[in-house]
Amino acid sequence: MKTVQVNIVTPDGPVYDSEVAMVIAKTVSGEIGVLPGHIPLVAPLAIGAVTLKKEDGTQEVVAVSGGFIEVRPEQISVLAPSAELAANIDVARAKEAMARAEERLQKKQDDIDFKRAELALKRAINRISVHEGNL
Ligand code: ATP
Repeated sequence: MKTVQVNIVTPDGPVYDSEVAMVIAKTVSGEIGVLPGHIPLVAPLAIGAVTLKKEDGTQEVVAVSGGFIEVRPEQISVLAPSAELAANIDVARAKEAMARAEERLQKKQDDIDFKRAELALKRAINRISVHEGNL
């Protein structure tokens, strides 16, 4: 088995569906690399990149904002609140979101607002990194 079917799905619809040779994802407990035929596994994802290595040596990168990865020997599914292929990321929008989040973090706020701003900042930084290829 040289490839595994990967799909990445969000509440807005499917973002990615292809055969790949390897998937690298950032789980909350660290980065994992998954090859075809992997034993079943479910893990929560961090805000981060999912790298999809193709059989021809090329790769695609998707920014995901958490969710779960479900690994089965012949199929890998990523279910995420939001996910964008690197080429579809609007960097200007992410930079605006980053600036808004930084501004909110500097103000004195309650814990919930602080946590929300922190997560928004992480999503924005992740989108910028994925778009720029700084992983
Ligand atoms: P913003 O404040 O710019 O909306 P956000 O982090 O709050 O950013 P999300 O709630 O994670 O946004 O996503 C809402 C929707 O907008 C999702 O469909 C997501 O894919 C899309 N999205 C958010 N930011 C970007 C971006 N910079 N480029 C492309 N799509 C984006």
